[in-house]
Amino acid sequence: MRKVIVEKKILVANEEFANKNREFLTAKKLPCLNVISSPGSGKTTILAKTIEALKGKVRIGVIEGDIQTDIDARRIRKTGAPACQINTEGACHLSAAQVSFALHKLPVDTLDLIFIENVGNLVCPSALDLGETAKIAVLSTPEGDDKPAKYPAIFARAAVVLINKIDLLAAGDFNIEKAGADVFKINKKAKIFPVSAKTGQGMSAWCDWLEEMAAKKEIPA
Ligand code: MG
Ligand code: ZN
Repeated sequence: MRKVIVEKKILVANEEFANKNREFLTAKKLPCLNVISSPGSGKTTILAKTIEALKGKVRIGVIEGDIQTDIDARRIRKTGAPACQINTEGACHLSAAQVSFALHKLPVDTLDLIFIENVGNLVCPSALDLGETAKIAVLSTPEGDDKPAKYPAIFARAAVVLINKIDLLAAGDFNIEKAGADVFKINKKAKIFPVSAKTGQGMSAWCDWLEEMAAKKEIPA
């Protein structure tokens, strides 16, 4: 009982910060995308390649969530984009309070778009509101095509599903049609982009979608 009450208090506090973040982002007309996946799906590589592809068109900042280290923030800064590292010190997801802190560290007035790279975890980050504009799910082909069926919560809430590492399709047994059909079963509105951040395959469709969103400041239909 006590545990339930404490967890409820934490969620209420999170919701307050999430609402503040949403108000802040709305006032600045800044789209903010919360990227969620398992560890190793290629989130940081996707973000670094996206930043490079959109250089001169969309000014991007990144909030990097990791349990420990600033390895990913350093990889992002190498592209020239500002990145704020949040270490969760063991926690398996970012909180809205941590995102609020990071939003005040980033040079938001010089940005058109913010990515949040959440801690690698397909489960609880999907349930936690950070005040983001939309959630983006990343699924890489070596993880298996059963993930949308096994972890429906994130795929149900995602505006976009990136199927990454399609360069490895021939070497594995990932069925891209099955994965796509399973996503559509739980989320009719999801946009699916099959990509390889490594080879660049499919990345232009995803980057065009982002460019359109950053120009209109809203999620394209
Ligand atoms: Mg990463
Ligand atoms: Zn968690």
